[in-house]
Amino acid sequence: MFFITDFKKKSCLETISKQVGQLQLEPPVVRNVQEAVTLLGRKDVRVNCLDEHGMTPLMHAAYKGKVEMCKLLLQHGADVNCNQHEHGYTALMFACLSGKKEIVWMMLEAGADTDVVNSVGRTAAQMAAFVGQHDCVTVINNFFPREKLDYYTKPQGLNTEPKLPVKLSGPLHKIITTTNLHPVQIIFLIKENPLLLDAEALKRCSAVLDLICEKCMKQRDMNEVLAMKMHYISCIFQKCSAHLQEQENQLDPLIKSLLKGREGDCFPVFQEKFIRESIRKFPYCETTLLQQLVRSIAPVEIVRVLLGVGNIGHIALNSSLAAAESDPMDLTPQRFSVLTQAITGQVGFVDAEFCTTCGEKGADKRCSVCKLVIYCGQKCQKLHWFAHKKVCNILKEKREKQELEASKEKKRQERLAERELKSAESTASQEEDNGESEASTVRESDSTVEETVTSAAAAAADDDDDETSADPIQPDAPEGAGQ
Ligand SMILES: [Zn+2]
Ligand SMILES: [Zn+2]
Repeated sequence: MFFITDFKKKSCLETISKQVGQLQLEPPVVRNVQEAVTLLGRKDVRVNCLDEHGMTPLMHAAYKGKVEMCKLLLQHGADVNCNQHEHGYTALMFACLSGKKEIVWMMLEAGADTDVVNSVGRTAAQMAAFVGQHDCVTVINNFFPREKLDYYTKPQGLNTEPKLPVKLSGPLHKIITTTNLHPVQIIFLIKENPLLLDAEALKRCSAVLDLICEKCMKQRDMNEVLAMKMHYISCIFQKCSAHLQEQENQLDPLIKSLLKGREGDCFPVFQEKFIRESIRKFPYCETTLLQQLVRSIAPVEIVRVLLGVGNIGHIALNSSLAAAESDPMDLTPQRFSVLTQAITGQVGFVDAEFCTTCGEKGADKRCSVCKLVIYCGQKCQKLHWFAHKKVCNILKEKREKQELEASKEKKRQERLAERELKSAESTASQEEDNGESEASTVRESDSTVEETVTSAAAAAADDDDDETSADPIQPDAPEGAGQ
């Protein structure tokens, strides 16, 4: 990537540009950004120059995931929507390929157009999904420019009053751009801001959300995903507003009822009902998204009945504790995942842990007793305890029983492998005269077999006297034993 117009300066600038591309490598990190600052300050350097593939410096920086460099280039007027690339890629698309959420966000804030397609007709979000960068898809799907919200803070048409008081725009914007749609999490965000903790304020916000929802559906490029999200948050605001009026400005009782579990399996019925009702109340019933959602809700009910679990099984089925899979006591909080999935575009619930209380991703604090439910922190654990305490001990017993069974099964497998090994050994010693080549072919052909054999060999080596010393797999044994 070149910043240059003057041929004579090319080589030195090229070197710097190349260094810029390696920003994240060891020490020269700061030095390179500073050099780029100097470079961008020069009159003969164009921030939007193109290389032979039609790529701008911003595209390069986005592709390589250089956060600071992107920031710098944007500050210097880099065109976020430059579309001269040979395959029609934009800086946003490159950011998606890099998988760096913050760069994607930065591009969006700088006004990146999300509807542009590349030469094969893919948008940035579709490209991100294609390469498995689901977090980037989520960022794009949940982006809502502040200006679009600020529009409602000015009186429109014949109105003398704005629909949204200026002071509410910031707090509301924070909520509508959130990617965690768990109702409890949204109530946390409301509680966080005293301006929102007011029945009247919430009503006004809700009305604005309904207007945005309508706009999303009626504009030329209809956006049902965003419309559904606005509608859903609006439903939560209405609920909170009603509760604030009834319950003397308290939202805690509402949180409690959302977390309260059903007798027997602790399934939060009220929460589930609330989400379902919100989806059903979506005013545009002809949309494909709604139909999809309704269709995916139906099987949830069935799965729940089948498994006796209160979720669609994403977490349950991928849980590290296979035990949770068909455990009627499973408490993972993914009731809202159908909706979340549809709205945020998150499909990869795999390998992610979600807080039982608020649905926050990346929760890693387990209940110390049952070790089956996870929370993002102590606050959430405390909030959930009134519901969880009824099943915690039962869950603990179940887990212990399952662990015991698993360890028995493991021992059984080990004994089996040991026996197989012994018979293999006797065959091998018979064939030894024919050369060792055959044995090594077997080992190379299947590494899992090899591992089993190796660890079994280690186990055997401990117990048995060395009949096996001549075996070719002996040197690996200590390693296998450590596993
Ligand atoms: Zn939490
Ligand atoms: Zn517990």
